Amino acid sequence: MNQLKLREIQNTLPAEVTLIAVSKKHSKAEIDEAYRCGCRIFAESRVQELKEKYDPAYEWHMIGHLQRNKVKDVVGLVTMIQSLDSLALAMEIEKQCAKREIIMPVLIEVNIAEESTKSGLTPEDALRLIAECADLPHVDVQGLMCIGPHDDDVKHITECFTKMHALYLEAQHRFTAEKIRILSMGMSDDYPLALACGSNMIRLGRIIMGKR
Ligand SMILES: *Cc1c(COP(=O)(O)O)cnc(C)c1O
Repeated sequence: MNQLKLREIQNTLPAEVTLIAVSKKHSKAEIDEAYRCGCRIFAESRVQELKEKYDPAYEWHMIGHLQRNKVKDVVGLVTMIQSLDSLALAMEIEKQCAKREIIMPVLIEVNIAEESTKSGLTPEDALRLIAECADLPHVDVQGLMCIGPHDDDVKHITECFTKMHALYLEAQHRFTAEKIRILSMGMSDDYPLALACGSNMIRLGRIIMGKR
């Protein structure tokens, strides 16, 4: 846990930006420490790990690829699923949330860097999925999420983040800015660039939680 770095980031973050502490591969004790330092939302990428560390006192997001058969295990635990990447998954979220009479906030994951190793939809498919989810009353699409390209070429990263922001504006234009209000983009290595490109939710792991 890097308390100084966390404080530095908290002190310079614009008020409209939400910081998510990515706690994957960190212990519950480390998560408790991060909470004491002011982190309020934690994110896990694996359902099993989320279940092991889950604490109802904190808020949790799911950020990893989610299999349909695991949806029933997560819908009662998380306040947002950031990794929606198919209509089939959306329909399963709908089914499980209808049973519990809850509405699940979700973000649609976009593979903006078009890397074959990444999950996420193309920009066109993401817009189509937002429209399709309008028929699912227990699935509330609130925005978009992406993982930046896996390289350290600032120009390429900026290009991808700029494209993602343009897609976000297009989604707001089509579906209203009241509905589409979250652009989750930026991790430890690229969050300053993401913020410069219009992100309003950053997901920080290593830089605040330490090595994993
Ligand atoms: C692991 C992970 C992060 C955090 O990555 P860091 O580089 O440690 O900041 C953010 N988003 C997703 C989807 C992740 O899987």
